[in-house]
Amino acid sequence: MIDKSIKIGKVVVDRDICIGAGPCAVLAPNTFKIVNGKAEIIDITTDSVEDIIDAAKSCPVLAITVYDENGIVIYPK
Ligand code: SF4
Repeated sequence: MIDKSIKIGKVVVDRDICIGAGPCAVLAPNTFKIVNGKAEIIDITTDSVEDIIDAAKSCPVLAITVYDENGIVIYPK
């Protein structure tokens, strides 16, 4: 279960390993956008914490790291 009180501070995509597979942009479409075959972060304030974590989990190459507002990595754990 995801603690819904968590606030996301930063989401990072490692564009060197991103393969543009795209499930991140489907699960959290306000956060991730595929640009030139790679995911970019467009806004981390609109999608729910749950959707952003689910998007990170969906990445087949583990290219997404999610931090809380204190800079602590909340995914991957
Ligand atoms: S799911 Fe992962 S590999 Fe696919 S576009 Fe998003 S960050 Fe890139």
